[in-house]
Amino acid sequence: MSEPVRVARVLEQTTAEGPGERTAIWVQGCTIRCAGCFNPHLFGTRGGTLTDPADLVARVVAAGTSGVTLLGGEPFEQPAGLAVIAAGVQAAGLTVMTFTGYEYADLRTQAVEGNRAVAALLDHTDLLVAGPFRQDLVDHERPWLGSSNQEFRHLTDRLRDVSGPDRLEVIVTASGDVSVNGWADTDALDALLAGLPTRRTH
Ligand code: SF4
Repeated sequence: MSEPVRVARVLEQTTAEGPGERTAIWVQGCTIRCAGCFNPHLFGTRGGTLTDPADLVARVVAAGTSGVTLLGGEPFEQPAGLAVIAAGVQAAGLTVMTFTGYEYADLRTQAVEGNRAVAALLDHTDLLVAGPFRQDLVDHERPWLGSSNQEFRHLTDRLRDVSGPDRLEVIVTASGDVSVNGWADTDALDALLAGLPTRRTH
């Protein structure tokens, strides 16, 4: 078994986390801790569920979407298991988009200096969204990312089209649980969800 991944949430089908219809995997744990992060409940490394990467590849393929989006939490703080997922998803002919709060140059330096897991996750990512969230630089122009300092890095020729609107998805289960994913201005989101018991993962 490959190194397990600590997973906070899997959403089988979403149109709010990258180009087209995708499967999203939020990992648990992030030490970067950007001020204003939408997912502070994903900072800690004790939550989530340890999951075999092979099981996650199977879930992504079974979902029938165009690929997977890896986000968090911080994917590059669990690069070994996520690289296995990314490689498996690409081997199935699907695409991989990965969000990170680290700068691309720093990740590339780690890879060059011998961090094989980081190198593997970069190698099996088609589209990287890199850089920490800056709440003083909120980006209202480009889809999916949160602030203007963050960058799209095209690491392959796939997922070249990064145009489109920001979307917010609100899912209400039969038992009344409400979960939200995608990206929206915090004030707008708070107004929308006032009084509802929600789980947010952007
Ligand atoms: S925005 Fe991303 S990188 Fe920054 S603290 Fe939140 S999960 Fe971590």
